[in-house]
Amino acid sequence: MRALLFNQSLAYTHRHPEPGLAAGDTLVRIRQAGICATDLEITKGYMGFKGVLGHEFVGEVVESPDKALLKQRVVGEINVVCGRCDLCVAGLSSHCRNRTVLGIQNRDGAFADYVRLPAVNLHVLPASVDNDQAVFVEPLAAAFQVLKQIKLDGRRWVTVLGDGRLGLLVAQVLQSVGCPVRVIGKYPEKLALCEKWSIRSRPLADIVPRHDQDVVVDCTGSPNGFELAMQMVRPRGTIVLKSTFASGKPLNLAPLVIDEVTVIGSRCGPFKEAIRALAEKEIDVVSLIHRRMKLEQGVEAMNLAARPGVLKVLLSME
Ligand SMILES: [Zn+2]
Ligand SMILES: [Zn+2]
Repeated sequence: MRALLFNQSLAYTHRHPEPGLAAGDTLVRIRQAGICATDLEITKGYMGFKGVLGHEFVGEVVESPDKALLKQRVVGEINVVCGRCDLCVAGLSSHCRNRTVLGIQNRDGAFADYVRLPAVNLHVLPASVDNDQAVFVEPLAAAFQVLKQIKLDGRRWVTVLGDGRLGLLVAQVLQSVGCPVRVIGKYPEKLALCEKWSIRSRPLADIVPRHDQDVVVDCTGSPNGFELAMQMVRPRGTIVLKSTFASGKPLNLAPLVIDEVTVIGSRCGPFKEAIRALAEKEIDVVSLIHRRMKLEQGVEAMNLAARPGVLKVLLSME
């Protein structure tokens, strides 16, 4: 099959073996996939991953032990878990000690013709969510995770730092629950999107950090973003860290101690919420599509997605 592989360098091949199915596995034919910052970080060494990249996808079920899934249009949760370790038993299966993660950790991903996942990972899509929207379910679920982790009631000063792919999803999710969110970003065209959604925004160059924000959600994907978040958050405020980056820049964490700041790491989130929000047209994801390219152009597509200011690049397997 066709696949976009990373093994020290990025390469497209049309001769990758099709995935063999283990017991309980479902085979999905990929229709479309999205490139995210995590894919780009992997090519810089994040997680030490080797294999087929990609974890944001929509496809159709070709083979499954669960007959109800056959021919259904699906999206998939990316953590494949054991169900037996202490964390799984405690209901924290997304942190399973024995997990593999689609296209990120010990499991081939979705930039390919086919992918295999356990049936329990799959969610059938309603007709009201089209394939363009569906590739955003995974990152949108990650945006909804912020609501699961912090209480926003009465928090008046909430900033999303970063106007990239994830930042613009997090800002829309926060706004959808009535939070008075503000986006800080670098790109006029993205801040214009915020205006279209009636979300307040400010250019990064205009920001004078004053230690006055109740909550700062760092979606910058860079260590500098976290440093700025520490300067913006108020004493006893909260930083939600959404960025994953490969760089190991030394950071001075003393401000967290002095200001008694709470830092919350935040990763995967609830798929059902994301699918519902897309079905109800609560979140605009289509405006985030920068370009569609074919799987064969995968290397070029990754280079494009890495350019500053570029939003979502989609890979089509048609
Ligand atoms: Zn992602
Ligand atoms: Zn487990």
